[in-house]
Amino acid sequence: MIPLSSPISSLPRVSPAYQKRLAKLGIKTLRDLFFHFPRRYNNFSKITKIRDLRAGTIATIQGQIIKIDNIRTWKKRMTITQAYVQDATASIRIVWFNQPYLTKSLKINDLINISGKVNLDKDLYFSNPAYEKITGQLRHTGRIVPVYPETTGLSSRYLRYIIQLYLPEAKQIKEWLPESVKRSQRLISLDTAILQVHFPSSLKNANQARQRLAFEELFLLQVFALDQKFQRLKEQAQPVPFNKSLITDFIAKLSFQLTPAQKGAAWEIFQDLAKDRPMNRLLEGDVGSGKTIVAAMAALENIKAGNQTVFMAPTEILAKQHFNTLKKLLNDFNIKIGLITSSEKTTNGQTEKKESKSSFIAHNSDLIIGTQALIQKGVSFKKLTLAIVDEQHRFGVAQRAALQKNIAVSPDGLPQKIPHLLSMTATPIPRSLALTLYGDLDLSLLNEMPKGRQKIITRLVPPEKRTAAYNFIRQQILSGRQVFVVCPRIEISERSLETNSLLPAAEIKAAKEEYEKLSTKIFPEAKVALLHGKIKSKEKEKIMSDFSNGKIDILVATSVIEVGIDIPNATIMMVEGAERFGLAQLHQLRGRVGRGEHQSYCLLFTDSNSEPAQKRLKIMATCSDGFRLAEYDLRLRGPGEFFGTSQSGLPDMPLGPLINLIMVKQARDEAAKILKQDPELKDYSLLKEKLKKFQENIHME
Ligand code: ADP
Ligand code: MG
Repeated sequence: MIPLSSPISSLPRVSPAYQKRLAKLGIKTLRDLFFHFPRRYNNFSKITKIRDLRAGTIATIQGQIIKIDNIRTWKKRMTITQAYVQDATASIRIVWFNQPYLTKSLKINDLINISGKVNLDKDLYFSNPAYEKITGQLRHTGRIVPVYPETTGLSSRYLRYIIQLYLPEAKQIKEWLPESVKRSQRLISLDTAILQVHFPSSLKNANQARQRLAFEELFLLQVFALDQKFQRLKEQAQPVPFNKSLITDFIAKLSFQLTPAQKGAAWEIFQDLAKDRPMNRLLEGDVGSGKTIVAAMAALENIKAGNQTVFMAPTEILAKQHFNTLKKLLNDFNIKIGLITSSEKTTNGQTEKKESKSSFIAHNSDLIIGTQALIQKGVSFKKLTLAIVDEQHRFGVAQRAALQKNIAVSPDGLPQKIPHLLSMTATPIPRSLALTLYGDLDLSLLNEMPKGRQKIITRLVPPEKRTAAYNFIRQQILSGRQVFVVCPRIEISERSLETNSLLPAAEIKAAKEEYEKLSTKIFPEAKVALLHGKIKSKEKEKIMSDFSNGKIDILVATSVIEVGIDIPNATIMMVEGAERFGLAQLHQLRGRVGRGEHQSYCLLFTDSNSEPAQKRLKIMATCSDGFRLAEYDLRLRGPGEFFGTSQSGLPDMPLGPLINLIMVKQARDEAAKILKQDPELKDYSLLKEKLKKFQENIHME
């Protein structure tokens, strides 16, 4: 027996090179290996007779190799391995590219399975199919075959090999779900689920396994959230009494009137702050609905009561923008504002270089703005009583919990207090879902826009109107405006059956091509820049500030890029492959324009004629209400797609698509039942252990 906690490096048959690659996927122990789930399956379980093969289908054949050779093609500098495989009915040609080593293991007369797409040239043939010599257990062909999340140099083929080799050890995995939960949810046991998720005996079994594994993640998350809530209700926080004259003064100095929604949300926050229990409130409001002002009022009130406030944003660019905005907003109130990001530490304009200065800033500022660098170890505060987190969905459940816990303060030897927490998000999460997912949060909604906001004109651009759209963009640039171009999302399902190509790489390639095309062919006269995830953060900032200063006309970006900053002069948001985005995401992108005085446009390019896609995109053109779009998206695509799983704290990608609202609710109900009946989890030692590990992981992040 090999213990589940054994490091991968201790396993026979895993070379150091592979250890490194496995580590890249987060696989460090035997247990991790078992919990690396397939993202999907190829159903290669049916064997077709060669005579019955049809072009264009995916099929598996079984036969004998009757010929196999390597052919060098000098012109293309490739080696082609060509084989013929014969069964009782006929024979067929197989070609593999650039895998000359195949002839070392595949020999004439070997019995072999071939799975893949049947192509037609002059005759039928397989090109780069999966193959497997038939010796013992099948793993790559002739069955339901798992396809895993991969990384460079680490294929599903290798993962299947190594996982199958050690899978018998999965028997040791202990069940930790309470028996009552398993029974009422009709879930299979954990060890069976692990076996069946990797090498399922049927698609039905694979599905049952995935249900079980998805449920347990949700269940643990809900136990965690409810437990947090119960704990929080026992904690102490610093009460901040409502300061009417201060807030009236602040509002009087604004150049505009607050919306009723802003007033309402602020009032809810002030009431929370006045309590001696920590606030945990989510402020939800569409892009441009004015969340910053509301947050600024909370910060101001807290600071003027003699306390410190932190304000955390997901990126440096956003943190800096907030720094500048808040400096202006709070200019008349004599407040010391500091900025802490990993590359910059500033107090009121003076840049501090040394890392140790973070603590200096944290101690000597009233308002500390920054990125995650804020909650890193070693940064301590004097009297921190309010933490504000912008774009909270970008941080994940874990980091948010860490924020509130890690920066707990004990001023002047008093009992430890927990800061009030205000989270903000522009992802319009429908109320029903928010309450289910973040059940330990209270919710304030900014469901109206400030008056006088112009409507952004949204148009669906079919292929034949592309040239006209480019001409329109050209005119906008000529009159001094700026343009965002967002490249299509590359879906995982588009990856070919057995490749190693990685998602971000494909997306970056697409963006580079778009950039080339726009800068040389379509708009050679314009200044075009490219922004994607692989660009260093210094350079990114330079590009963003050039764009902000009008030195760039067109900014081409991947869909993953942070464009969450204010460029009032940008009037066009052009999205390629728009059908691949969720409506909520498109709405977010659209919110990047229309922030200034000029009429703005959102141009959605699509080549898709599919009716559902057209219908969805047409809704974008008529509806400008983020909440309605989100509801629609949720009904259509489920919460996994809606959030992008990693952002929501929902289970990771491979199981994400399974999750639906009903499952979230069931997990929550089961968790509540267990905790109600046994708050200390005395009778559920394995669950308790699991929860403890989960909490530890959170604190390590
Ligand atoms: P978001 O909710 O997207 O974070 P911001 O707080 O950045 O929105 O506000 C967007 C813009 O709207 C800012 O320039 C802000 O000054 C302005 N704004 C906020 N509230 C109002 C209001 N009540 N009336 C007019 N403009 C407002
Ligand atoms: Mg904002």
